[in-house]
Amino acid sequence: MIDLSNIPIIDHHAHALVRADVPMPFEKWQGYFTESPNALVKQRDVPHTIMWQWGMRELAGYLDCEPTAEAVYAARNAMPLTTLANGMWEDTHSETLILDYYGFATHENYTLEAMAANFNQKIEKLLRIETYAQDIFMQEATFDGFLDALIAGLEGARASGHIGFKSIVAYRTGLDIGWVSRDEAAHAFAALKPEAERAGKIRLADKTLNDFLVVTALEIAERQSLPFQFHTGLGDTDLDMRTANPLHMRPLFQSGRFDHVRFVLLHGSYPYTRDLGYLAAMYPNIYMDISLAIPFITIQIPQMIREALGLTPINKILYSSDAFSLPEIYWLANRWGRAALEKVLDEIVDAGALTEAQAYDAGERILNRNIREVYWG
Ligand SMILES: [Zn+2]
Repeated sequence: MIDLSNIPIIDHHAHALVRADVPMPFEKWQGYFTESPNALVKQRDVPHTIMWQWGMRELAGYLDCEPTAEAVYAARNAMPLTTLANGMWEDTHSETLILDYYGFATHENYTLEAMAANFNQKIEKLLRIETYAQDIFMQEATFDGFLDALIAGLEGARASGHIGFKSIVAYRTGLDIGWVSRDEAAHAFAALKPEAERAGKIRLADKTLNDFLVVTALEIAERQSLPFQFHTGLGDTDLDMRTANPLHMRPLFQSGRFDHVRFVLLHGSYPYTRDLGYLAAMYPNIYMDISLAIPFITIQIPQMIREALGLTPINKILYSSDAFSLPEIYWLANRWGRAALEKVLDEIVDAGALTEAQAYDAGERILNRNIREVYWG
């Protein structure tokens, strides 16, 4: 039996926890066990998911309590958040989190500095380009000022401690990213500016400007050989799944302009997992992350890992949790992700396709070494 428990996880796509001083009533806690923002789904549907029913039994085992949601909730609340979180990370042998600087930067979450100070995980950060651009959009009166400040900020990202970029363009205007001229972007900026000034804020969801931003950041990532994460596939309802398939990004990959960017396409692009697996098999600089599908597709996790391993070179597949807000989500992702990987590698060894040594090497790569190579290689 393949046992990967000794391999430390470098969790390269995750989000900060909700702070210990934020009240966590039962209904709110339950609401984190889905990606849906809908109140009825959170309250009525979550108890009918395998994520919840299996999750509660698993958590009860860890917390040594009755296998009911009420008992699990009581047991997790009976200990300090730091004890709960550090214990769960230690139990699943996680040692590093790569967080995005703006993701989940609400008043309820720990800052990245506080994550590093309070918990047993080494914290690294990525620059989320859309949120960063929104701040600069509000600070600069003209498009030229906006573009100069944006480029300077992105070029300085590594110097300011970021190990790469991240884009949520899939959640805003889709992955069919087009080539936009500077003039077109300037026009889009001018059209959006008055309303943003009135509102005192902006949520960049203009396809012309968003596409221009992504290509501008890609040009900088190309010059600096930076890793660049893109959300793809499943996510919350901000997202139009029809344009979340990474096949839409082919013009970028084919252009030859970004051959030194390490594209890390997140969420296994689920349900477009095989499409992403194909891209990662064809292009040397495309990597396949398998998070969010882990843990949310639950009993289908082994199937997704099989689909990933069938075609894709093993040096291109990266584990992460995409966990957020609660230590429990991290724990379930790490536990189910590692167990599914062990199960599938066992099958592959039984089929004679990999030796046991090759299977161990694959497990070590997916949980740890591939991630080191992409971000620090
Ligand atoms: Zn994600």
